[in-house]
Amino acid sequence: SLSDRLTATFKNLRGKGRLSESDVNATIRDIRMALLDADVALPVVKEFTRGIRERALGAEVSQALNPGQQVVKIVNDELIRVLGGETRQLTFAKKPPTVIMLAGLQGSGKTTFAGKLGKLLKDQGHYPLLVAADLQRPNAVTQLEVVADRAGVLSFAPERGNVGGHDAVTESGEGTRSFGDPVAVARAGVGQATLRGYDIVIIDTAGRLAVDENLMEQARDIRDAVQPDEVLFVIDAMIGQAAVDTAHAFQDGVDFTGVVLSKLDGDARGGAALSVASVTGRPIMYASVGEQVKDIEVFHPDRMASRILDMGDVLTLIEQAERAFDRQQAAEMHRKFMAEEDFTFTDFLEQMAAIKKMGNLKSLLGMMPGMGQMRDQLNALDEKEFDRVEAMVRSMTPFERSHPKQINGSRRARIAKGSGVTVSEVNQLLERFQGAQKMMRQMRRGGGGMPGMPGMP
Ligand code: GDP
Ligand code: MG
Repeated sequence: SLSDRLTATFKNLRGKGRLSESDVNATIRDIRMALLDADVALPVVKEFTRGIRERALGAEVSQALNPGQQVVKIVNDELIRVLGGETRQLTFAKKPPTVIMLAGLQGSGKTTFAGKLGKLLKDQGHYPLLVAADLQRPNAVTQLEVVADRAGVLSFAPERGNVGGHDAVTESGEGTRSFGDPVAVARAGVGQATLRGYDIVIIDTAGRLAVDENLMEQARDIRDAVQPDEVLFVIDAMIGQAAVDTAHAFQDGVDFTGVVLSKLDGDARGGAALSVASVTGRPIMYASVGEQVKDIEVFHPDRMASRILDMGDVLTLIEQAERAFDRQQAAEMHRKFMAEEDFTFTDFLEQMAAIKKMGNLKSLLGMMPGMGQMRDQLNALDEKEFDRVEAMVRSMTPFERSHPKQINGSRRARIAKGSGVTVSEVNQLLERFQGAQKMMRQMRRGGGGMPGMPGMP
């Protein structure tokens, strides 16, 4: 997986400290493969990686991340940006009802999604009405009625022409289809909603198996008749490389304000999301993740970015490292270490603060490959112990912190009193600390490496 490859890349890059062209190229090769694996359309992959390359080569060297991590972060930020950044909310009409029209190929999941969105909005306190303007197939109207039923919302259909048992309003229309005129049905549905106080109208439309000019014309006619506040383009996440052409066709044919990515519960890694968002510039608003009406999610660009890159927890790790890691502080430590200055309690306190900033250290280590054993040890560690140690160090004077050997009996008693511990606890800390100093001196003689976390309880 990309995770494994990146871990290897990170290893190779460690300690180089600067983004070289070959570092960037190596990481971008991995990214390109991951995008193609995720079924992102080839032209989109090319354009995307070109942009990344420019940004990565021009980027200032990060203080907190190694070069490999830094490239991955740039890639991730850019993915999220293209996928729409912040999740966009539905635009509601100033004067209800809000009209939402669905468009997309046959089988893409429009009718199913009409029910899902209906339920979602109903659960938020709205009164949605589903309108069956797919008169292409005999079953389509019945299917929408069934879906509406499951969602617990009402539907408006041509033949029955009624809304949930209210007075019948027959719409004959002189459409080109044997089941009636979809434009007239859509218009009548909005009329009913206005009349009866529904605040949302969701219009289901017909689709064809492939892009088709008649179909586009019909969708356009419906759109012009009802002037929707949102046109949502529903696309099957499994469509793969065809995503680009299909999205272009619907954008040119009807245009849309947002995208629904359906069948994300399948194997698809979601490359279609990047393809569609990238070529249309329209935000993806919802994900459809199953056949039931409850299977709808608000689309999260950040989650999709990590699904596409398949990076698991690597990104979380980067985020935490970035927050916590103060490379300047580490460099200062390193300088002291090499200058043969003794490790002091002040350094010790700084390291403690760095550890604390890392937040949940256990989960952080749990995410790093091969750290399971270390995590077990950490689980045995009482975090309150950290606080006690910190309290003791804070009770020392600056002189004492840099001259631990000078901490005699009366000083120990004072420190114990000031930090609310016993003198024997202070003694233990000083013993451990001297052990740590000794270890540091040995490491230095051994020729280097960064000091770890000496003196930790
Ligand atoms: P439409 O032709 O665009 O209206 O598509 P439908 O809503 O009729 O869906 C076509 C098929 O895909 C149906 O069998 C649905 O049950 C199925 N389907 C729709 N959305 C999803 C989804 O998110 N996940 C899965 N697994 N199946 C879906
Ligand atoms: Mg349908």
